[in-house]
Amino acid sequence: MKAEIIAIGTELLTPFRLDTNSLYLTDQLERLGIPVIQKTVVGDDRERLKSAFAEALQRAELVIGIGGLGPTEDDRTREAVAELLGRKLRQNEEIVARMEERFRARGRKMAEVNRRQAMVPEGADWLPNHNGTAPGLWLTTEDERVVLLLPGPPHELKPMFEEECLPRLRPRAPQHAFARKVLKVVGLPESEVEERIAPLYCAVANPETTLLASPGQVEIHLRATGSDTADALRRAEELAERIEQALGDHVFTRGPETLEQVVGLYLMMRGATLAVAESCTGGLVAERLTNVPGSSHYFLGGVVCYSDKLKAKLVGVPATLLRRKGEVSPEVAEALAKGVRRRSGAVLGLGVTGIAGPTGATPDKPVGTVFIALADAHRLRSEKHRFLGDRDRIRWQAAQAALDLIRRKLLK
Ligand code: AMP
Ligand code: MG
Repeated sequence: MKAEIIAIGTELLTPFRLDTNSLYLTDQLERLGIPVIQKTVVGDDRERLKSAFAEALQRAELVIGIGGLGPTEDDRTREAVAELLGRKLRQNEEIVARMEERFRARGRKMAEVNRRQAMVPEGADWLPNHNGTAPGLWLTTEDERVVLLLPGPPHELKPMFEEECLPRLRPRAPQHAFARKVLKVVGLPESEVEERIAPLYCAVANPETTLLASPGQVEIHLRATGSDTADALRRAEELAERIEQALGDHVFTRGPETLEQVVGLYLMMRGATLAVAESCTGGLVAERLTNVPGSSHYFLGGVVCYSDKLKAKLVGVPATLLRRKGEVSPEVAEALAKGVRRRSGAVLGLGVTGIAGPTGATPDKPVGTVFIALADAHRLRSEKHRFLGDRDRIRWQAAQAALDLIRRKLLK
């Protein structure tokens, strides 16, 4: 059984609204072992809706339409599907009674237009909506395909799907199950990740492997099928294990954690504390660290020292060093790391300085040059990076590399 989702609403074709319901439904369907093979977004237009449903029904055994079941003229899903399948619409008195009761309970009278929501195509089952007025509709076509129409508001759609649709779908779902595994990689470009792991994942069709790159991070998504969830999970785990061996400690998690969460976990485990002095990242490292609940246990704080003056005044970077080596230099990154460590009393001190661009480059220090240093009581480690991209991307990658430097330090 394959599924398609049609997200319906003219607002979903504007820059202001995003179809999020289909992400939820895809997750739910995947757990049942029903893959979503195509998604469509259509405006509230009867003819386009009809053709979208007609096409989807040629490819998939389950077609789920989301939205357009409201009481107003511009909600046309019900009519479009009834017309496509050649079903007459009839007013269902039980739905009317329930809607009237719903309004009465709120001390209001139901508007006449709401009666449209009680129109049910011949032969369709209607699904009660405990969180809104529009009932869902479950239709079976002549060739045994299912069209499921659900209301658009997520707080109506989700409970309806879980209470009314899951029990109906389970018996139709295939016997095999799915499992997902995500490996997150830092410090290697996508091309190198691909080079190292392609021989491993290309050799097997199950799990299916997808690489997703974002600035400073590559995610490897594995999707395995198996006779049951445990079997699928075992297949995903096996490949994950081999991939991790090929990438070594560049893999920072096999779970949902972010890099800052992993860093936080390591700091906590080691009982270490951290303070940061940031120039070009402008507090981004601190921002990301403090996004993690409980970070007060290990993160003492940070200094955003953008000017020479504050680097000297707040972190104690010698003015002569700044003059001789320049603000963007390994020596200044190291002085920031040592200085913030000493002044804060933290176990670890981090310093970041660089050129985020688009201005400020020099012949030997192009835009994207970033120095990062990490100091503990005994050692000082610094790195030079050259990041590509616009200001945002450079700053993000610098924060990513800084967090990774801390992570690698704590691995040992
Ligand atoms: P409707 O059932 O078309 O009247 O939709 C009512 C509301 O549900 C819309 O105004 C949206 O806020 C929301 N909505 C509709 N479709 C979606 C969707 N695919 N994802 C997220 N929200 C949606
Ligand atoms: Mg709508």
